Amino acid sequence: MNDEPPPKAIDLPALLDQSPDDFRAWLAAQGAPGYRAGQVWRWAIQKRAESFEAMSDLPGALREELARAFRLRTARIDARHESPDGTEKLLLRLADDERVECVLLRDDRHHRTVCLSTQVGCAMGCVFCASGLDGVVRNLTSGEILEQVLALASLLGENERLSHVVVMGMGEPLANLDALLAALERITAEDGLGISGRRVTISTVGLPEPIRRLAQSGRPYNLAVSLHAPTDALRNELVPANRKIGLAAILAATDEYFGATGRRVTFEYVLLDAVNDRPEHARELVSLLRGRAALVNLIPFNAVEGLPYRPPASGQTARFAETLTASGLAVKIRYRKGDRIDAACGQLRRRLGPS
Ligand code: SAH
Repeated sequence: MNDEPPPKAIDLPALLDQSPDDFRAWLAAQGAPGYRAGQVWRWAIQKRAESFEAMSDLPGALREELARAFRLRTARIDARHESPDGTEKLLLRLADDERVECVLLRDDRHHRTVCLSTQVGCAMGCVFCASGLDGVVRNLTSGEILEQVLALASLLGENERLSHVVVMGMGEPLANLDALLAALERITAEDGLGISGRRVTISTVGLPEPIRRLAQSGRPYNLAVSLHAPTDALRNELVPANRKIGLAAILAATDEYFGATGRRVTFEYVLLDAVNDRPEHARELVSLLRGRAALVNLIPFNAVEGLPYRPPASGQTARFAETLTASGLAVKIRYRKGDRIDAACGQLRRRLGPS
């Protein structure tokens, strides 16, 4: 006789963490036909069902088995902030009470972009970023990455559709590449969210080996590398992870990425007043990127409480951009969105304090 109490719901594995193979194997073990997998994913992801009971075209017995075997949702919305420009930010509480942020961005071209986190905290230690101030706690699972998209999609109005995904929230995506790739498979799948891989952008501090793996994955994701400095001396100060990597190794990997995918790589550059926004920095950046099919994304620093950095002085971003464009580089300036709601990485989680 088995005296053990029935498992608590929290101990069950998350449905959204199941790989396609594992889930098909589970269905087969229940004697259910393989096509049920597609049905379940459509309910869980496209229709954002809140319970297995709601999956009305599945046999009742299968719904009960699913509810006994899996948790459908693991995160709860802890806080929701909306800014006047339409940006909405959610703080999600995970099953172990850790918290992560994700953001929905709206623009006037009807783009609806979700910005996702991949880790609780971050180990990279970039000196101007709120996410890494307390180090990394853990990687998110693929289901936790996916669940951010589902939570944000539920904020959309009837005439809005998710169009883009940027992996620019908390954490270093390429330090959690397997979970990220599994989540992106569902996000881009036809029986998932059907978002084109060309509309997915992964932002990294620049980890050469995972960049190569991503290049070889055969997926058309856009790669953005957070450069922030044109020389190793300055980058070692701003991005401590650079000390063990170096710009040369990063650029070799991004060149391979471009060679393998044909996707132009974006280089992000957060402008910090008097630190990396001087004319000589712009000129050095030109020499570093010369001859590459690159897009430089200039991001005026978003002030973080307690950090000594300031946004660039008025006119400085435009002058910096001008030096780059004059030498033939493609440049975009990322205007601040949602700064009233602490939309820059890690800020909301920090402001609301420990869980
Ligand atoms: N770990 C990834 C994702 C980070 S978030 C990476 O390093 O790319 C996405 C971008 O926002 C990065 O370029 C990051 O450096 C930048 N960022 C972080 N804090 C910022 C701040 N306070 N103001 C402006 N940009 C910031």
